[in-house]
Amino acid sequence: MRFKLYASGVESRHAQEKNMKPIVIVGTGLAGYTLAREWRKHDQTRPLVMITNDDGAFYSKPMLSNALAQSKTAADLATANATKMAGDLNADIKTRTRVARLEPDARRINTDAGEVVDYHKLVLAVGASPIRLSLAGDAADQVLSVNNLTDYACFRQHLSGKQNVLVMGPGLIGCEFANDLIGDGYTVTVVGPDATPLGRMLPEAAGEQLKAALESLGVRWELTNTVSSINKQDKQLRVQLDNNRVLSADLVLSAVGLRPNTELAQRAGLVVSRGIKVDRMLRTSNENIFALGDCAEVAGLVLPYVMPLMNAARALAKTLAGDPTPVTYPVMPVVIKTPACPVVVQPPPAETPGQWHIENREAGIVARFLGEQNELLGFALTAGAVAEKSILMKEVPPLLV
Ligand SMILES: Cc1cc2nc3c(=O)[nH]c(=O)nc-3n(C[C@H](O)[C@H](O)[C@H](O)COP(=O)(O)OP(=O)(O)OC[C@H]3O[C@@H](n4cnc5c(N)ncnc54)[C@H](O)[C@@H]3O)c2cc1C
Repeated sequence: MRFKLYASGVESRHAQEKNMKPIVIVGTGLAGYTLAREWRKHDQTRPLVMITNDDGAFYSKPMLSNALAQSKTAADLATANATKMAGDLNADIKTRTRVARLEPDARRINTDAGEVVDYHKLVLAVGASPIRLSLAGDAADQVLSVNNLTDYACFRQHLSGKQNVLVMGPGLIGCEFANDLIGDGYTVTVVGPDATPLGRMLPEAAGEQLKAALESLGVRWELTNTVSSINKQDKQLRVQLDNNRVLSADLVLSAVGLRPNTELAQRAGLVVSRGIKVDRMLRTSNENIFALGDCAEVAGLVLPYVMPLMNAARALAKTLAGDPTPVTYPVMPVVIKTPACPVVVQPPPAETPGQWHIENREAGIVARFLGEQNELLGFALTAGAVAEKSILMKEVPPLLV
């Protein structure tokens, strides 16, 4: 009798689950998978469908720019495949499937395989794509960029037997790759328009220190300069710069920035700006559709880093489970993975009046961005001075309280 009661309870739960429309998450990057994990802590019942146009393997994307010197392959970086993730998350994960169209009024999505999936709530975690510069030359299409495991596998394959790598873009990703490549024995030249590396994030003195540290390992810089054309020349590439200088390279890696993937949302009539616009509840202009991660613009902020998406995932998980929770952003400094000169930066909010104040200590640079009332709004630390991070973090106001 007891068994029968139990069995019928299970049956009715299964019947209930069958009738429930799923939460659908598009994207299985860190944003999609972190949200799924967090949400499952609150809801073990409702079906979960995840759709991705890659193979659904779980990996930590920041590892892509420091994996070469550790001799890691793409397979080494993938810590769980889609089948394992589906089991762990009690989810149906559709891999190699692109979501082609959203139908917000009907609350369903269409895949490129012709499948239609109904949803209770939809979450877009579709990431960002590398910006491709329009360059002249018959080898312009050979430029590589690395934004996922497949790109990384392709990059490694192209590097085989090569020596000279030209990196376009002296920003975070460009500098990390430069450090990684030189650590793996390649010859590296970095080209970019700024006067110092990470020019948009760091005060000049900190950028200069990073530049000198990478230079001491052999990195060559072509700054205040850009690439204008790339042509084939025997087995090499002939890279022409704006100042007419010509460089030879075996391979060109572009790290000039990422643009949030907004097309799917835009075509469905959702409001987009720099990213898919969402409020503090991570809700788009449609009440049943949410967005987070690199594709989202959260309360006016586009922060394509891991910490913001983790905070967003924790809040959204609660909201989706019936406990409406606005996202909060604490102070989240960005750690730049350049072992030649470690850097930590908390950029001041965009367009905020104020000035950098530089202290050149023996251990490294401590740069404070002070506002008009002398209040600390951001900081940058280099080399041994990165140890000051936790002290300065306490003085900077959080981004979203
Ligand atoms: C080389 C590199 C180094 C980095 N280092 C750091 C670091 O040190 N610290 C830090 O904080 N941040 C770092 N970042 C940034 C950080 O990795 C990203 O912010 C984060 O991984 C973004 O995760 P995401 O899930 O939003 O996007 P993604 O990982 O890009 O995931 C997007 C997902 O959406 C899927 N998708 C897209 N469109 C569709 C569609 N139409 N249909 C189906 N699926 C679709 C894709 O297949 C993918 O699964 C780095 C980034 C890079 C590229």
